[in-house]
Formats: sequence, C-alpha cells, structure tokens
Amino acid sequence: MTNTHKTKITLENTFHNRTVNVIAWDGIISASSIARAKRKLCGVSGCTCGGIRGGPELEYDQDGNAKIMEQYQSLA
Ligand SMILES: [Zn+2]
Repeated sequence: MTNTHKTKITLENTFHNRTVNVIAWDGIISASSIARAKRKLCGVSGCTCGGIRGGPELEYDQDGNAKIMEQYQSLA
C-alpha cells in the first residue's frame, strides 16, 4: 500500500486528567500503541478506570488494534 495515511490522535483519560498523543495509520491505532497509551494515561495497578476515557470513539478488533470511528476519520 502506497497511500498510508498517518494521523496524530490525542487520547484522553478524564478520570486522571491526562492526555497522550498516538499515531494512527489509515485510521487504525495499533494494539502496541494502545497498550503504551493506556500505561501513560493510567499506570495505576488495580485501577478500574479502563485506561482510555474520553477522546475519539474507538472500535477494537480481535487483535486489540483500535479503529477510530467516523467523526475523527474525517480529520485523517
Ligand atoms: Zn486509572
């Protein structure tokens, strides 16, 4: 694929009041980027906030990659 579209996405955690920037490729954030983002957004062991709260709506596939839903796709 030659037309891969790279986009910077800001994920939020409104519970801990943190944000983190990740890179999405063609509207997909990789599972490893999601895992890293969750550690930055929370990092509290045993916390039940879920890591990502707020920001774009994400839809996860079976491998944990996150697809950014339509309202943010238009920014890509
Ligand atoms: Zn937390």
